Amino acid sequence: GIMRAYIQHGMKTQPQPVKLFTTGPIFRYERVQAGRYRQHTQFDIECIGEIDPAVDLEVMSVAWQLFSGLGFQGLAFQINSTGCPKCRPGYIQVLVDYYRRHESEVCADCRRRLERNPLRLLDCKVDSCQPIIEAAPHIQDYLCDECREHFATLRHYLDNLGRPYVVNHRLVRGLDYYTKTVFEVWAEGIGAQNAVCGGGRYDGLAEQLGGEYTPGIGFGSGMERIVLLMKAQGIQVPGLPRPQVMLAYLGAPAKVEALRLLTALRERGIRAAIGFGDRSLRAQLRGANRAGASYAIVIGEEELEKKQVVVQDMREGGERELVPLDQVVNLLQQRTASTNS
Ligand SMILES: [Zn+2]
Ligand SMILES: [Zn+2]
Repeated sequence: GIMRAYIQHGMKTQPQPVKLFTTGPIFRYERVQAGRYRQHTQFDIECIGEIDPAVDLEVMSVAWQLFSGLGFQGLAFQINSTGCPKCRPGYIQVLVDYYRRHESEVCADCRRRLERNPLRLLDCKVDSCQPIIEAAPHIQDYLCDECREHFATLRHYLDNLGRPYVVNHRLVRGLDYYTKTVFEVWAEGIGAQNAVCGGGRYDGLAEQLGGEYTPGIGFGSGMERIVLLMKAQGIQVPGLPRPQVMLAYLGAPAKVEALRLLTALRERGIRAAIGFGDRSLRAQLRGANRAGASYAIVIGEEELEKKQVVVQDMREGGERELVPLDQVVNLLQQRTASTNS
């Protein structure tokens, strides 16, 4: 879909590569199983218009940062090259010849794959097929010069960054438009399906859609699956950011003023909140404490008459000070900026 959009909207006139993302609901017809719902929310990150292996690294780095930022432990890339239309057919022939010699040993599914989609042979999960896969020829040994160099350069970049990766010879793509880099990010300890995302190059896709040659690479993942995997790794979802300032008020006129200050603070980018429901001042301050606010602005009837508010530093040993009403927003902007709290 996204390559079609690239062609249709003439994005090749923009500075290349074009970096895009998509997100939205995906529906599946196949059997529903754990972590694979009838409807799920897929997101994709794509980088289109450049063949440089540094772009592969860039896209992989987005995945890395995303999943390490979420708190996943034991991450590593699984990488491979799926070749190109020049070199892949030669490999497929070698693979088919190899499997013909072992046809009696493999499962019924694999005998079908041998006729229809030989690359999928490497995906088989049946126990008795595993030794055959282990000993199968590797596509690495049949890559053309261009594909081999692309893969070597990518590995060199990953080595240089110190990113852990494993060359996984089973990682290939059956469709013709997939080319060169294939990758997944694996996280440890989440069971049989280790991958948190998968992606790769599709340099042949644009031409297959009737466009001109346009290289591209991307990856995708499903939100619901990520949530399940986070639970499997025992990752705590980070809490909402706490308010920097809580407003407390006593009486209706003070409440009107508090609501005005609330808006003014937010317009300055300060995370401000207010207690609703006209509770007692004590209850409101308790709420500010519980919310983890750094400051409370207390507006009482007396102070309001003198155009003043009380600013209470809610942190350990914090002080109270009387601040002119028209200076309180500036003061809190300074305070929250300097303490970054
Ligand atoms: Zn090639
Ligand atoms: Zn099999």
